[in-house]
Amino acid sequence: MHIVAKHLTKSFGSFVATKDVSFEIEKGKLIGLLGPSGGGKTTILRMLAGLEEPDEGDILFLGKKVNSLPPQERGIGFVFQNYALFRHMNVFDNIAFGLTVQKRTKAQIKARVNELIELTGLKGMEKRLPHQLSGGQRQRVAFARAIAPEPQLLLLDEPFAAIDAKVRKELRTWLKEMINRVGITTIFVTHDQEEAVEVADQMLIINQGRLEQQGTPIEIYKQPRTPFVASFIGESNQLSDISKFKGFETQALQEAQAIIRPEFIEIGLPKEMAFPFAAEDGVVRNVYFRGTNWQVEVEVYGEKLFGYRSLELPTLHPGDQVQVLIHRIYLFNEESNVTLE
Ligand code: ATP
Repeated sequence: MHIVAKHLTKSFGSFVATKDVSFEIEKGKLIGLLGPSGGGKTTILRMLAGLEEPDEGDILFLGKKVNSLPPQERGIGFVFQNYALFRHMNVFDNIAFGLTVQKRTKAQIKARVNELIELTGLKGMEKRLPHQLSGGQRQRVAFARAIAPEPQLLLLDEPFAAIDAKVRKELRTWLKEMINRVGITTIFVTHDQEEAVEVADQMLIINQGRLEQQGTPIEIYKQPRTPFVASFIGESNQLSDISKFKGFETQALQEAQAIIRPEFIEIGLPKEMAFPFAAEDGVVRNVYFRGTNWQVEVEVYGEKLFGYRSLELPTLHPGDQVQVLIHRIYLFNEESNVTLE
């Protein structure tokens, strides 16, 4: 295993920023470290980088403990949101920086920088200063500079946070392609779930200092292990009491927290339902046009749920009597979680 974190705990005074976090990362993977603000993502990144020492636990790179190895000896590249380029250095010199520190020869530096300029699509911009570049180009220079010395681990902390939505979307697809091509193990911090789902090979979901789940975006979406993960990744409805719903009466589930994704709710007129006996009666409360479908809010047993409806079906209106069929439900209680289909 390339990177291993074992039971990492870190406090600042009496505040525990990271609690017993363990994970393993394979070489060359792009990992999305995702969670709400203040959850402890940056603290984990800083421990991996050697900028903070864990109070408890170990960090291993290729099986070797690196807990007290200084940052410059860990072979790490960084790109941070505000980790500015050197303002008075042009693109070429910015990218060359880490190579100069490594005391490579002039010819080696030139060859490596040109290779990266080619790779990151910055050809023709070698002589420009950072202020003569767009935000997206600057982040590509920052990326090229970070990978130039061939780090064994690349850490990106919200690298696109300051960039507008459209360019940001392009940059993340670009980043995924780059990482796949260069094969450097990369950890990417974001609090944007769409960004993480789109680029990451694997995601680490962090909340209140704890690792809630590690898995591929699909695994996490399909099999969330905690209510937090189920509501943080993807869209969800939360039900306070499902015991009134068909099929759930006999099960002692009153205490369970129930989460249903809108994609797994079918809302239709009685004649449209293939299995009307399994459906619940509901009333439409709101309907929103979403471009590709309708978002329909219904009330069932006093609970509000939303689902989607195809534009091809007859339009629903507030007050319409409908039937609601639930195809999949996630149930969580203290000890376990179950998915019912
Ligand atoms: P964000 O998405 O806002 O960057 P994050 O998930 O990266 O958040 P961290 O920056 O790791 O979260 O911070 C976790 C918690 O630890 C926060 O409540 C923060 O205030 C606290 N914290 C981090 N560094 C320090 C420090 N040096 N001293 C005291 N508290 C700190």
